[in-house]
Amino acid sequence: MELTAASTLTWAREILCQLGAPAGCTLEVLVPDVSAEPEVRYGETAFTSRLEIQDGEADGPSVPDQPNCLCVVLAFDDGVSTSVLLEDSLAEAEVVVLLAEQFQDSVLEHTGGVPAPPCPGHIHPAMAGVVDGEASWTCPQSGSRHGRDGSGRTRPIRVLPGPVGQTT
Ligand SMILES: [Zn+2]
Repeated sequence: MELTAASTLTWAREILCQLGAPAGCTLEVLVPDVSAEPEVRYGETAFTSRLEIQDGEADGPSVPDQPNCLCVVLAFDDGVSTSVLLEDSLAEAEVVVLLAEQFQDSVLEHTGGVPAPPCPGHIHPAMAGVVDGEASWTCPQSGSRHGRDGSGRTRPIRVLPGPVGQTT
């Protein structure tokens, strides 16, 4: 599919709403300069020194140095930010799940671990996953990641339809 900054930003916003993201956080979609030489990595990017929330990846933030990639940056009001690199080849559901997973981690850490979005009847948060080709919130304990279990714990991550219409 073809990712656009506009639709990606829309999905990211809706996911943040579902995660109960704190006020004051901002979203930014960075589009790589595809005309640049491939080896140009840190020249004119918008990155400043960032504190990465994620473990590992000690070699700095992901920079969209390849064409057909978008980089979504979620920044909190205290300067902490996290970035998600999205390849154009990803399906819409995969993009939504990637955003949901990364943002969920960041928001949870930032809010001190308040589970969001809730997993009905459980104390842990729901987990993002692709179920039946659809980006969904699932229960990390019930194994429903691989199919609907009828408990209501597997439910779509509701985002506006992307450029490719998908009916269920
Ligand atoms: Zn659960």
